[in-house]
Amino acid sequence: MQDTPPSVPDFTQWPSFPFEGDLRVKQLDDPVSVEPPRRGEEDRECTACNAPDEAYIWVGERWRVRAMDRPTGLPMVLILESRSHLDLGDLPNLLAAELGVMTVRLERAIRSLDGVARVHVNRWGDGSAHLHMWFLARPYGRLQLRGTFLSLWDSILPPIPEAQWRENLAMVAAWLAEFGGRPLAEPPRIHWQAPSSFSAVTATDADAGEEEAVSVIEAAEEIPEPEGRTDEEPDGGTDEEPDGGTDEKSESGADEELASGADGQPESGAGEKPESGRNEVSESRAG
Ligand SMILES: [Zn+2]
Repeated sequence: MQDTPPSVPDFTQWPSFPFEGDLRVKQLDDPVSVEPPRRGEEDRECTACNAPDEAYIWVGERWRVRAMDRPTGLPMVLILESRSHLDLGDLPNLLAAELGVMTVRLERAIRSLDGVARVHVNRWGDGSAHLHMWFLARPYGRLQLRGTFLSLWDSILPPIPEAQWRENLAMVAAWLAEFGGRPLAEPPRIHWQAPSSFSAVTATDADAGEEEAVSVIEAAEEIPEPEGRTDEEPDGGTDEEPDGGTDEKSESGADEELASGADGQPESGAGEKPESGRNEVSESRAG
């Protein structure tokens, strides 16, 4: 019930902002007194804990890496998960230190893919309680994709070719396996007679669960309120008016803190050339 809606911020005029035309700022719902449980909290199942290793492209003793179910608009989108059901702030020192190592390792692996300029590392966690870090690759030369709107562009751009996607997955899996663990994404087997068809045995073919990971924004892990959940709010103050439109805000789960912070705003002309050599990791994949 604001009398004067807030004006549309300047970033809607940036080249990196994916939309144009007349925009209005949504009115905020009233805050709830008790937030609903995330996946993996209270009575809600944890997708990550239930997922078999085969749903991942690389698995280690304490960490696993997985991809979306299918190619998306960005050259590579990966999720790093701990095996233990912990959230970021709950990690013991060993896992906390390993998270740093894994983050650096994965960033480097993804940045080494052809056509990748930068890797954005994100953690939201409003949808799932199980620690999961996002690694989003920005395509080289796409200056308009610089900055915090990259996760939106992942859903907007046409998906990259599946063959390239599988090749990228295999590269990253092999890279990680150089340091240990098990790569599960294998290079695609191209049928040269019919160039458009190929088969690949990758982990992502395995059923990762009922929920489909379509893109960053639409990923179940980041959507705070699942579609099917119709039970009452946990004794909050607002549960008297179920159809008042106060709880239908779930579409854009991951847009929290997207456009905040000036450090996400790219400066023009910034950016060094990445070393985009494909390193020789694929030769020595451990079985
Ligand atoms: Zn879990």
